[in-house]
Amino acid sequence: MLAGSEGVVSFVLAGEVDGEGSPTLSLIADGVLQLRCQRCLSAMGWPVKLESELHLVRPGTPIPEDELENDEFDTIEAGADLDVLALLEEELLLAVPIAPRHESCDAPRPLGEVKKESPFAALAGLGSKSRT
Ligand SMILES: [Zn+2]
Repeated sequence: MLAGSEGVVSFVLAGEVDGEGSPTLSLIADGVLQLRCQRCLSAMGWPVKLESELHLVRPGTPIPEDELENDEFDTIEAGADLDVLALLEEELLLAVPIAPRHESCDAPRPLGEVKKESPFAALAGLGSKSRT
């Protein structure tokens, strides 16, 4: 999804136990990603800032339904070998817009437009003589 590999994202991952005695991770990340603008197709620096609270369950443990429906935090399976970078990547992917765009930019001109006149323009001219 990146237009280039420049850019740095720094993150802090902290483990704690919440008030109910459940293990949680808090993930804070910010930085700038190089995304491709979906309008002009050039690279754009996109600042990312995310804060996630993740509740942990042991691999193979069913995740309670009320946790799945909770929007405030995600519940993930995690063991001692949790892949931190994969987790970070996943959270970043969730944060990235599906179709990033500059606030204002122009779509690239189609190559065909450089040609003098398309056959369709000539046809359109036949329809009405008043137009020039
Ligand atoms: Zn653009």
